[in-house]
Parts: sequence; structure tokens; C-alpha cells
Amino acid sequence: MSNLPSEPEFEQAYKELAYTLENSTLFEQHPEYRTALKVVSIPERVIQFRVTWEDDAGNLQVNRGYRVQFNSALGPYKGGLRLHPSVNLSILKFLGFEQIFKNALTGLMMGGGKGGADFDPKGKSDAEIRRFCVAFMRELSRHIGADTDVPAGDIGVGGREIGYMFGTYRRDRNRFEGVLTGKGTHWGGSLIRPEATGYGLVYYVTHMLEIAGAGSWEGKRVAISGSGNVAQYAALKCIELGATVVSLSDSKGALVAVDDGFVTVEDIEAIMDLKLKRKSLAEYTPKGNLKYIEGARPWVHVGHVDVALPCATQNEVSKEEAEVLVANGCRFIAEGSNMGCTLEAIEVFENERRTKKGDAIWYAPGKAANCGGVAVSGLEMAQNSQRLSWTKEEVDQKLKDIMKNAFYNGLETAKKYVPMEEGELPSLVAGSNIAGFVKVAQAMYEHGDWW
Ligand code: GLU
Repeated sequence: MSNLPSEPEFEQAYKELAYTLENSTLFEQHPEYRTALKVVSIPERVIQFRVTWEDDAGNLQVNRGYRVQFNSALGPYKGGLRLHPSVNLSILKFLGFEQIFKNALTGLMMGGGKGGADFDPKGKSDAEIRRFCVAFMRELSRHIGADTDVPAGDIGVGGREIGYMFGTYRRDRNRFEGVLTGKGTHWGGSLIRPEATGYGLVYYVTHMLEIAGAGSWEGKRVAISGSGNVAQYAALKCIELGATVVSLSDSKGALVAVDDGFVTVEDIEAIMDLKLKRKSLAEYTPKGNLKYIEGARPWVHVGHVDVALPCATQNEVSKEEAEVLVANGCRFIAEGSNMGCTLEAIEVFENERRTKKGDAIWYAPGKAANCGGVAVSGLEMAQNSQRLSWTKEEVDQKLKDIMKNAFYNGLETAKKYVPMEEGELPSLVAGSNIAGFVKVAQAMYEHGDWW
């Protein structure tokens, strides 16, 4: 029995990784990597701090702030900041742990980290958001830096919050440097960074479709959950490539297409505006055939879809929902969110992959499919180091190349390390986990982090 407090989300992320490593030939070929797994699963450093700020009524408010500096073997700690009432150490450790291997899969020089606070941006005024961000960065700024730790956005943190935090760092530390990514484009931000996670997800799935012989995006029905940054740009890219988007959602309910309805670019633009004001999807009145279902997630309400893209938050696809997606003919599932599927849901998809062969299911975990966001963050760091800005076309092309590499790296690594029966498709979850892990473990070994 462990005497550590239970950390359900972190344990889940660890189990997913460890299970895929155990069920490959990796440890047979390299028994020493068991030691690496033990070492890599403990953060190099965890920072916890108090954030006090003043609300509009002049009252003191207090929150818990965190930064998990998980692993720096491949570069400065890198990963987003999440502002959400559910934030605790278990959630940030799971996110930081995933981030290590995700960042490795981008091929760029970034370690893994994650941070945030249990602050709820919903219902707060713009001034309250600003005062919170300033108070949060007042403390965080002691622990980060362009060559130490480079945070970015995540749930509840977008361009506006990054701006307030960057301003605080600049004033308090008296340094203008690439200490955060997702910055405004006229003060060091990279073009395509806001779009990158959603676009990258769609680029990744393009390779899944291609290798499965399922053709292009043209005419595909796509279920998307979430309505934040990732979902918005994934949906726009799907539409641009000729697919039909049949759902979006938020924590309070889902917007689902009925009677040949579909989500339009106008719907997405209106929802972007709504979300910027921290309003809920329930307040949106669609023009076309879209129905709002209170308290629901989209998966069991969308009927047949070819592709499902969970883009909301962790554990947003259950075993039962996975079974319905499969029964309704969905063959491609790729996570825009981090750990979007429960372990049981992954098992449903992976079983289908193993047993069905030919028309089997392809499931891609977030650490591979959503690495486009942090990849363009890495490109933003590179531009900041050069003090230059690259064109939209240049960044977009690099993003496409990175997503292609992430896909084929996972695929080829699975073929190399995971025993497969005749006709069985390679496991993208196993391949991506092994590829990310081996790269980090090897660098740690060479640095003397384990021996
Ligand atoms: N929060 C994003 C992620 O989960 C982006 C992190 C970053 O750009 O540093 O990968």
C-alpha cells in the first residue's frame, strides 16, 4: 500500500503509459528502461503558492496556484496554465506527465510542465480576470524564464490572460523575453498559434484517413466536443476541407445537428464571440438545424459519424459512449483534449482495432494528435530566440510536417515494439507512448538522471 494521497487523474495517465510499455517488447529489449519509468514518473519539482486578489466588490479572494516542473531532459519545462475550479495537483500532474511525452513527439527541444489555479473565470469581470492574472504571475514569475520554464494557455487561459501575465512578468522582472507562448502577434506571438492545436489535430487525422484508405475529409461526418480554442479551429479546418461538423459542446450541454443540419462557419464565429465573454453555449440561438441538449455530451446523440474529435477536457468519452460511437460506425477517434477518453473507452477502441482488422478502428491519444499546439509554441520560442517572425505559410507548413512526423513516428514505433497478429493495425497509443518515452528516457540517461 502506498502512503501517498490518491491522485486519480495522474494514476490514470501513468497507467495508460505503463500498460502500453509493459505490453510491448520494449522492456525485454531494454530492461533498464524500467528504472527510467520509475524516475520519470516523479516531477523534478512542484511549486505551490497562494494567490490573493481583490474582486470588484473590494473583497479579498484567495486561490491555490501551482506549477509542476515535471521533466527538463529535452529542454525548458513547457506546458500550459489551466484556470478551472477543478484544478488540483492530481490534474496538473497528469497534464504535466502527458506533456513530457507529447513535447518529445513534436521533435522540438521542450521539456514538460503544467500549471494553473483553482480559479473559476466564469462569471468574473474583465477587471477581475486582470487582477487575478497579475496576482498569479507575481509569484509564478520567480520560477519561470525563457530558458527555464515557458508556460502557455490551456483551459481558461487564452490570449487576453497571456497578455496580462506577460505584462506582469515584464514589469516585475524587468525583462522582455519569450517567457510565455500564445502571445499577441505584434509583441512576440507566433502566427497560427491560436489555430495550431485544432488545425494540427485535423492534419494528424488526415494521415489516419489516408493510411486506412478512407479517402479525404470531403463528405466525412465529424462529431466534435468542446467549444473552446481547440474545438473552434478543429471545426473550422474540417469545414474548410469539406467535412460536415455535427456537434459542439461545453460543460453545460451539447449542440447537435438534427435533420441534415450542420455547424456552419457563422455558428462557430458567433460561439467564439460568446466564449470570449465567458458565456455558455446555452445562450446561443442557432439559425439552422441544431438542437441544444442540456447536460449532455454529444457522442450518443450524433448518430453515424466517421470521425470523433473529443476537444473538451479529460475523461469526456466513457466506455458506454465509446461503444455507441463504434456501433454507429465511427472509425476514427483522435483526442484534441488531453486524456479525453477513459481507460475503459480506450480499451473499447483498442479491442476493435485488434479484432476487426480490415475496417478496424483507429484511436489516437492526445499526446500525439493534439501536439500541434505546443509544437507551434516551440516554433514561437524559436522565433523569439531569433527576434524574428515567420510568415503564416511557413508556420503552417512546419506544423503540417510536425503532425506528419508525429503520426508516422507512432505508427512505425508500434510496428517495431508491439507484437501484432497478421492483418492487425498498429496501435497509435502504444506507438506514440513508446516513441515519446524512449526519447525522454535516453536523454535522461545521458544526463545522468538515472543509471
Ligand atoms: N495547453 C496546451 C497543451 O495541452 C499547450 C501547451 C503549450 O503550448 O505550451 O499541449
